[in-house]
Amino acid sequence: MKKNWKHILPLLLAMFMLLTACASQPTVEPNTEDPTVSGQPAEVESDGVVARESDVIVVGAGGAGLAAAVKLGELGGKCIVLEKMPMVGGNTMRSGAAYNAVDPELQAEFGIEDSIELHVQQTYEGGDEVGKLDLIQILCENSLDALKWLESYGVKWQHNITAVIGATWPRTHYPENSIGSDFTIPLTEAAEKFGQEILLNTQATELIVEDGRVVGVKAVNTEDGTQYEFRGTKGVILATGGFAADIERCRQYNPKIPADIKTTNHPGATGDGIDMAVAIGAATEGIEYVQMLPIGGGTTVSTVIDDLIFVNQEGNRFVREDGRRDEMSYAVLDQPGQYMYMINDQRVVDANVSQKGLEEKLAAGEIYRADTLEELAEQIGADPDNLVKAVEDFNAHVRSKEPDEFGREVYNNTIEVGPFWASAPQKPTLHHTMGGIRIDTEARVLTESNEPIPGLYAAGEVCGGIHGSNRLGGNALADIFVFGRIAAQSAFEGK
Ligand code: ADP
Repeated sequence: MKKNWKHILPLLLAMFMLLTACASQPTVEPNTEDPTVSGQPAEVESDGVVARESDVIVVGAGGAGLAAAVKLGELGGKCIVLEKMPMVGGNTMRSGAAYNAVDPELQAEFGIEDSIELHVQQTYEGGDEVGKLDLIQILCENSLDALKWLESYGVKWQHNITAVIGATWPRTHYPENSIGSDFTIPLTEAAEKFGQEILLNTQATELIVEDGRVVGVKAVNTEDGTQYEFRGTKGVILATGGFAADIERCRQYNPKIPADIKTTNHPGATGDGIDMAVAIGAATEGIEYVQMLPIGGGTTVSTVIDDLIFVNQEGNRFVREDGRRDEMSYAVLDQPGQYMYMINDQRVVDANVSQKGLEEKLAAGEIYRADTLEELAEQIGADPDNLVKAVEDFNAHVRSKEPDEFGREVYNNTIEVGPFWASAPQKPTLHHTMGGIRIDTEARVLTESNEPIPGLYAAGEVCGGIHGSNRLGGNALADIFVFGRIAAQSAFEGK
């Protein structure tokens, strides 16, 4: 057969040029030690900036960013996820993993009445009616679906419903081990299976805007200083989390926060995404609303509030334990020494907590256990009569289910089956920033005049406007997974 050289010659020429180009052009070596780096070759421009491109650039590999990466994969889209820390996970990985979702089937098993409307109402009112109802509606309507979506990627849920501190209602679900990596590990694996690239130690510094559209982001490798330009043909998703690691910034917004407060946040929670978005004209929502958690200053036995009480150093209760996080935190700050203990009985431990971990904490003297309440009071240096009376009063209200003098409404079990447990002294900690970038229900970033900024999307704690002035415990994880998926969908569809 006669060969048609007219057609083959250009092909050979192209192959030759490609080979010589590959040989002469420096490429970024695949990082074989880091399985999250796929090692696709990157081009180096003449000014020394490494240029990379994908469909979408996701900034931040916490829960929202990882959910977006997985959702993009599902849709057939590719992304590069930039993570400034040496590990994925952000605050999501550090979280206690409480996840709120109205789940009629499961809640019915535990005799709990609930509805989407109630979740919306409690979220709105729990945030002083500052949050935006359209965003809250999306959060509450989609949280069960997101829970099942997470399950489809390997998240295993406990067959239980409780109320985490500040949830105000029993609709809290926990994954297998009640730790944030129950989410971040399966999502990272899923993102990698979809071929998404996660670059660690890569800090986004500035959004790139061309003709009014966000087309990418500048970044720097925090280890070797390499400068990058990442371009997303379908845009950029900011999923950089909040700024509760920046105590001074939080205190500027809320001077009631004590100067010596500790933070529950990972060190990377410094508000980078908010600053980058604001620099190109994004509006913020409720930036001044910073959340303290009433606990966090020491080891806990359990954070499920249904069957525990808070007592001060005198052994007295002082606040409803099913209340809002801000009210509980300020109440703790009003107590002698500005701390409190959490008291529960053995049944909580049997139902929720890994006994082995507690034995280690006991041995280390971090928490307390005693056969009687009197002995427990002695161990923590409280008045035994006060502690016994506090528990008796609480038990009477558990039985009657009537609100007590502090207004507590959520009850499950009494505290009466020994041994009895006390946490380490708990001080309020900085925990969450409710404020952030303004978005719409499609996770598009908005300007002051509510115009979407083309090509820019945001999800998770980096956003404001959902939790109002005070976030319900357990709503953050629902938020990041619900809106992480929406941001991916919107970016993919070019909304
Ligand atoms: P969310 O709960 O909203 O997902 P997380 O705190 O869990 O928030 O995750 C946010 C992630 O974004 C963290 O891992 C954090 O290190 C990362 N991050 C923050 N700022 C930057 C930045 N400038 N560049 C890249 N990653 C960032």
